[in-house]
Amino acid sequence: MKVRTRFAPSPTGFLHVGGARTALFNYLYAKAKGGDFILRVEDTDQERSTEDSFKIILESMKWLGMNWDEGPGVGGDYGPYTQSERLDIYKKYTDQLLAENKAYRCFATQEELEAKKKQSEAMGIPYIYDGMYANLTEKEIQEKLDAGIPYAIRFRTPAKELIIEDEIQGKVKFDTKLIGDFIIVKSDGFPSYNYAVVIDDFLMKITHIIRGVGHLSNTPRQVLIGEAFGFPIPNWAHVSEIVGSDGKKLSKRAGATSILAFRDLGYQSEALVNYMALLGWTPADGREYLPGELDKIFDIARCGKSPAMFDVFKKLKPEEKEAVDFVKLTTNELAEYLNPKSKLNWISNRYIRESPIEDLTKLIIPFIQDNPKIPNEIKDPKNETLQSILDSIRVYLDRLSQAPGYIEEFFQNELQYENEEAKAMAHDGNGPQVISSFKKILEEAKPKTSEEFKNAMGEVGKTTGEKGKTLFMPIRVATTGKLHGLELPVLFELLGTEKLIKRMESLG
Ligand code: GLU
Repeated sequence: MKVRTRFAPSPTGFLHVGGARTALFNYLYAKAKGGDFILRVEDTDQERSTEDSFKIILESMKWLGMNWDEGPGVGGDYGPYTQSERLDIYKKYTDQLLAENKAYRCFATQEELEAKKKQSEAMGIPYIYDGMYANLTEKEIQEKLDAGIPYAIRFRTPAKELIIEDEIQGKVKFDTKLIGDFIIVKSDGFPSYNYAVVIDDFLMKITHIIRGVGHLSNTPRQVLIGEAFGFPIPNWAHVSEIVGSDGKKLSKRAGATSILAFRDLGYQSEALVNYMALLGWTPADGREYLPGELDKIFDIARCGKSPAMFDVFKKLKPEEKEAVDFVKLTTNELAEYLNPKSKLNWISNRYIRESPIEDLTKLIIPFIQDNPKIPNEIKDPKNETLQSILDSIRVYLDRLSQAPGYIEEFFQNELQYENEEAKAMAHDGNGPQVISSFKKILEEAKPKTSEEFKNAMGEVGKTTGEKGKTLFMPIRVATTGKLHGLELPVLFELLGTEKLIKRMESLG
């Protein structure tokens, strides 16, 4: 049977890491098995669903490269793929359940239900709907309908022990007595999540349901509905929880960060996808840098139960957890919370280092486009100067957005020392002697290649008797004004002797 998976977001917010990881596992599993990946919009919560959220989710999915085979904008044989457009389908199934007495109308008011909940609370027992409208007579029902009393439709939950075979969590037992008769159609006529999902998964011929472990507790309800209709039971795979850098549940606010924020921070989508694939899955050989391979080797059989650590953000202090709203931060503010040693940075750096330089140059353009410190004539993906600068700095980049700072440096002629320490490095001790000796060699030997610059610095060492830090640091501050930066011979080759001499004169 052809594998068919689906991602079924509710358009009530951004696409965040948790949702994107679920989408990704479904996408990768379908692709690895030669199957189809379906996108379905679950917008039955009319109050919380928005058009904006729908658009952001679609844009995020496209940016991540998770193209769906069926769904909004693409079509397919099993549409419509938006639940609010499928109400007549659900109604047909509901009529069947009502006719078979597997469901019933519940006329309970909000107050009645609240009162029962309070009673249970007072007794210290969990609230379970007690079936107060489960056994009305036909006549009683008709009277209420005639009086226009609003109602929900509840499923008559059979009491039994249910065992779910989950591909990741193993056998999980549930006692359905603890569920009670649950709502399948709300009083606004919209189906509940647990109801619509079963009908859609059946009609859309979904074979594998891969989703967060948080949904495990919904699964018995869905199995019971499926059994009531005689649907085949799909394969379940509930993926591990995602925790933050502190090993604790990912804070709601950090976890809500939009996938598009990672694009703005300068992560390549391939790097983020690679990182997210490792949140709960490991390939057989344990490798972590997997460009172009994920959709061939991914398998739910290698997904683990233990929580996956999302280490992209620093450990937050307890007071920050509540106070910092990641969703509201600007890109620069958000960057302050990044963990420099995250696995994402490691992976991202490798993608930056190993991408073909033409591809990388193309990706950098949006980050330098409006930068006034970088000359417009080089802002072209085919520009050779831009390509060679990028090639020399890429090893230092964890994110594409860090590139402009380095690129700017190449175009500064009038320099200043970044601080007193840098200035002292040029002026104190043997600094002035090292610098003037270097300048003299530049003027006389006019080195061109990085190799020649390396030799030139070696010569300075011999003349002045300095080596290591006391040799390189004065040269560094005298040519850049800064204490840290690119490897000098590489920088020098790109700048050329003429510019270097100008820079040294401007620093003085
Ligand atoms: N609409 C549900 C959600 O966003 C889908 C859950 C499922 O995959 O069944 O959580």
